[in-house]
Amino acid sequence: MTALLSLSIIFLAILFALEILYKEWDTKFDMMLFSYPLSLKSYLLGKFSFFASKTLLSFVILIAGFVFGQTLRTGNEMQPGFDFWSYLYPILIFGVLNCFFVCSFLFMVAYTTRNKLLVVVGGLLLYVLYMVLLVFSNSPFMAGSIPQSIEVQQLSSIIDPFGVSAYFLEAKHFTIEQKNEFVIPFSGFLALNRSIYVLVSFVFLAMTYRFFAFTKTVSKKELKRERLVLSDVISKSTVDKTPNLDFSGPSIVKSALSFAKVDLIYLFKSVTVVAVSILLVFFVGMEMYAEIDKGIRLPEQYASSGLLATSISQSFQLLGAFILVYFINDLYWRSRATNFHFIEHSTFLSRSKLKGHLISVSTLLVFITALLLVLALLFQISYGYTHIDWIAFRGVIVFNTLPLILLASFLLLINSVLNNKYVALGISILTVIVYTTPLVKMVLPYPLLQFFSGFKGLYSDFNGYGIYLTAFTYRLIFGVCLVGFLWIITSYFKLKQWTKLNVGLMVFFTGLGAFSGIGFMEGYLPKNEDSKVMEAVEYEKNYRQFQDLPQPTITDVNTKIDLFPSENAYEIEGTYVLRNLSEKPVHKVLFNFHPDLKIEYANFNIHGNAISIDTPVSEIELSTPLLPNESATLEFNLSYQWFAVNGHHSFNAIVGNGSFMRISNYYPTLGYQSDHEIKDEQNRLEFQLGKASHIHTIDAPEVSKADFIDLTMIISTETDQTPIGIGDFQKSWTENGKTYYQYEAENIPFRFSLASAKYQKKNLIHRGIQIEIFYNEKHPENVDRLLNNAKLSLDYCIDNFGSYPYEKISFVEVSSFSSGFAATAYPATIFMTENMIFHANVNSDPGKDVITELAGHELSHLWWGNSQINPDKRVGASMLTETLAMYTEMMIYKKMYGEERMEERLHIHQQIYENEKGLYGDSPLYEVPYGATHIAYSKGALAMVELAEVLGEDQVNLALKNFLEHNQYPKKPTSLDLLAEFYKVAPDASAKSKIDELFKMK
Ligand SMILES: [Zn+2]
Repeated sequence: MTALLSLSIIFLAILFALEILYKEWDTKFDMMLFSYPLSLKSYLLGKFSFFASKTLLSFVILIAGFVFGQTLRTGNEMQPGFDFWSYLYPILIFGVLNCFFVCSFLFMVAYTTRNKLLVVVGGLLLYVLYMVLLVFSNSPFMAGSIPQSIEVQQLSSIIDPFGVSAYFLEAKHFTIEQKNEFVIPFSGFLALNRSIYVLVSFVFLAMTYRFFAFTKTVSKKELKRERLVLSDVISKSTVDKTPNLDFSGPSIVKSALSFAKVDLIYLFKSVTVVAVSILLVFFVGMEMYAEIDKGIRLPEQYASSGLLATSISQSFQLLGAFILVYFINDLYWRSRATNFHFIEHSTFLSRSKLKGHLISVSTLLVFITALLLVLALLFQISYGYTHIDWIAFRGVIVFNTLPLILLASFLLLINSVLNNKYVALGISILTVIVYTTPLVKMVLPYPLLQFFSGFKGLYSDFNGYGIYLTAFTYRLIFGVCLVGFLWIITSYFKLKQWTKLNVGLMVFFTGLGAFSGIGFMEGYLPKNEDSKVMEAVEYEKNYRQFQDLPQPTITDVNTKIDLFPSENAYEIEGTYVLRNLSEKPVHKVLFNFHPDLKIEYANFNIHGNAISIDTPVSEIELSTPLLPNESATLEFNLSYQWFAVNGHHSFNAIVGNGSFMRISNYYPTLGYQSDHEIKDEQNRLEFQLGKASHIHTIDAPEVSKADFIDLTMIISTETDQTPIGIGDFQKSWTENGKTYYQYEAENIPFRFSLASAKYQKKNLIHRGIQIEIFYNEKHPENVDRLLNNAKLSLDYCIDNFGSYPYEKISFVEVSSFSSGFAATAYPATIFMTENMIFHANVNSDPGKDVITELAGHELSHLWWGNSQINPDKRVGASMLTETLAMYTEMMIYKKMYGEERMEERLHIHQQIYENEKGLYGDSPLYEVPYGATHIAYSKGALAMVELAEVLGEDQVNLALKNFLEHNQYPKKPTSLDLLAEFYKVAPDASAKSKIDELFKMK
């Protein structure tokens, strides 16, 4: 952390360099300086030590503030006690050394060139260089950290002038516990790196001494500029000194424009605008590059307008806001500094000055926006993706530029109301920090008031910005009205008189503000974390008893889902058949309905009685118990609609086009749901909840449980879209202007989902199985490859593991509004996201063929998934699904591209595993915990490929086929069952011990 903070040294050093190192020159003291008997060496040494120590001191103060904040933090992830050395050590190796390096570099630039612009640019260049390094090296704190090869890591740990990469390289070999207990020793690459840069710093200092530039050479151009500025001031003051009695509209506009003109000349001639533009272009450019190039694991993305527009929106708002704070403060108080404001304020037209500033700052923002858009277009052209989507770019203006202009008008108001430059600066910074960081949700929880904030949201080729664009515009208009209101009020307090225009504007702003505010807030549901915790506590306290009570099992689901994509809404009708499959009578039943969905109607029909249910959690006492093997039904109607103000849920994304819902998550459930439990240990202690429900250990007795369902789902949607469910397709029809599709699947786990969009379709029949692909018309690039790979994967799985259980397999593209997965497999249907699969530029590098990987992986889940193999909740479960899917993926990759390419992919998994085990812990594969993907996927792939080398691919496949046969539903197999099959095909004792080594050791 200190290492990261040490980057702030650059910014501190630039500021101090401008202040300290140029003092003599700015005050023209340099003429006299060397007439004193003072040696150059001692002068430079004095200067440098003052400069460096001031920078270091400010940095240490910054760190101290950070440490203080840390010790105030509570929570069980923090360690008790305070270890002074663990803070001092990084300050020494990062703080002091980096400070020395940065200061000596800037010192050299300053005293050899005598040019302020070069100091700023040089400092920024250091920063820029560093960002480049972060992208190319393995940097755990870069967004979407991507694994890099060990050679690249070593190289970057030497080149990295700040030592951060070296630190992470050395730290990688430590476990979490070790990292917290010990500090990383000063050895290896870290020591090498630090010594190199101390040496380099001394070289910089020596060069300063050698090439010291005695006097600043004043160019003719600069002299000319000074004269020019002077003439500006003169002409401006003559305008103000002769009071113009014509206060009508045109003259106000004219004077505002003339103020703006003066500002703009000042702005665009200043060093800062150049520096800021370079920084912004660079920063956003890096972001764009990172978004397109996904590292060594994932293929490149197409440089589409949507991708680039969202990457601008990621950082523009924050950077733009800070730029505004600086320039507005600078512009507004510029005339004060020269005491010129007495003249300005004496005139009625001083109000025009504010308007002039607003115009000029807005022009600056438009200039920056244009710069970034040109950058985006250059990216598109250089990557050869020339389909330009102006709607995506329009988002940049609506989500960033317009709120920033609004913010500018507010900041100007702050500066004009407050009578002190620094108080105004402080309040401006505070406003910006609140509005551009997640802090805004705490300070202003009411979303309508967050109108200065930007939108970092998503863009989908299916759905554009969805309903967010309209909602955002509403909120922006509300903001304009509110700030306009404030401007008028302050103008009243200054002038003490109402004009007709102002009254009219007040009325107009009130009306429009109310209208747009109501439009934005439609459907708003306040979020309350505390009440959520309380609900979970209540739930556990009241209903945990159901964990040990027999409950009916859902055996049949018959459902109709009506989708209304253009309204972001759907309705569900459903009937469950519930059967008591236990050996004991059921006396009471617990129903859980999802709180996000509205219960229109729900009836529990038992023994000829209908019991109505209207609350999300309902406990029903039965007058006559449901005896073993007796059945009952549950009938229900549910509805759902979401609004932009609350945001959509990634797995319940009913959107205009490209909807995807893991809909079974939103269906009613029976019995106690242990996933509602609070996980936080301290919270559990506080509410006296006792031990949380835990998943089974590996040696808990095996279970056999019949909990599969027969599913019939009818989906309707708007006629220009195709609705897609899971299982085999039965029939489709049109009725009342809606398209209906019916799907059926027998004997599947209670897990189903659906999609709906305007689709293109491509299909073929292979070995009697229909392979079909539903995709967006803008994304045809990978469709043929996907069809081919599906054929290949089907062949491999059918030949080695057994027959395919369905009539068809559909690959369905869903919009990026659903995120958190690349692809997800259901019986006979696999859903894949647009950005990760369908619109990935696979041709850019055949070594990163995600299509082959995922087609193989996901298709194999129809064997290693939950419909053929269905382990219960216990450690090691994902070794039976994900590890085996990874194995199949690797074997198919080998078949397509050869052994060498497969080894390359494997190598990446090796690195993912190595990197993440230090962060998230390690365990033997057969006891892999839930959610430990680096073990189940990466370590699993490594182990299985090695197993195939030891036993032979055929023998492993034979073991897998036997495993499938011997562990069919309703058995819930464990990882021990799989190991047993491996042992059976092992030729000798040494092979057996190898199996143990691969799967039972850490
Ligand atoms: Zn998987």
